[in-house]
Amino acid sequence: MINVLGITKKYGKFKANDNITLSVGSGELAVLLGPNGAGKSTLIKSVCGLLRFDGSVTIDGHENHTTEAKRLLGYVPEFPVLYPMLTVSEHLEFIAKAYRLDAWEGKAGELLQRFELNDKKMKLGKELSKGMQQKLSVCCALLPQPKAIIMDEPLVGLDPHGIRELKTVISELRENGCALLISTHIIGSMEENWDTTYIMVKGRIQRVCRRSDLNANQSLEDVYFAITENK
Ligand code: ADP
Ligand code: MG
Repeated sequence: MINVLGITKKYGKFKANDNITLSVGSGELAVLLGPNGAGKSTLIKSVCGLLRFDGSVTIDGHENHTTEAKRLLGYVPEFPVLYPMLTVSEHLEFIAKAYRLDAWEGKAGELLQRFELNDKKMKLGKELSKGMQQKLSVCCALLPQPKAIIMDEPLVGLDPHGIRELKTVISELRENGCALLISTHIIGSMEENWDTTYIMVKGRIQRVCRRSDLNANQSLEDVYFAITENK
């Protein structure tokens, strides 16, 4: 569903992404794990079509800059981008109109309920806490029911209920056949769910770890520290 082939991204002379190749199938949760500055957000922005880069990205076979690809892909950025003067409800209405969704109110109501935003519907974007902004950003990405979802450090800033709810939603999306690519710098934050973890250090994928590769004597943490300590 998400196919990334040989992405290289430079900021001036600095290579933030160096020849990254990865793929995420339907019903698969791929984790992009790496320290701060590894290049995770740069990669995600390239995949979502927000940066120019060398290489190619397709979403279900469509080049990532096409309308077809954009319709299939949901994106939760590292820092929520909301409209300060629109209410919570108006944000969802705006997405519904932009995507020409019909019968979206039920889905919007369900998302607001799940993320405990029901009593915040009339609050303005500028009045929301960081956690509420994050939750609304997730609701906006999920409203069009995308087939592929990319989330950049989605658990950061959420309270324990928010974290539990988002993890549950992520499991359900995976079970329903969505392709998920989720970045994090926290090992084990997707513990119940992940299929593949791409360990990224200094702009490169240093290891592709399938969950089925690990045995009882070897945790993801062991693999991560073995790689990152000599980098
Ligand atoms: P991560 O998300 O893994 O923390 P980023 O992709 O945000 O990493 O950053 C990777 C590297 O690229 C860092 O060294 C960062 O300082 C640099 N970088 C990110 N954005 C820019 C930019 N717009 N201009 C120059 N350097 C940048
Ligand atoms: Mg980042």
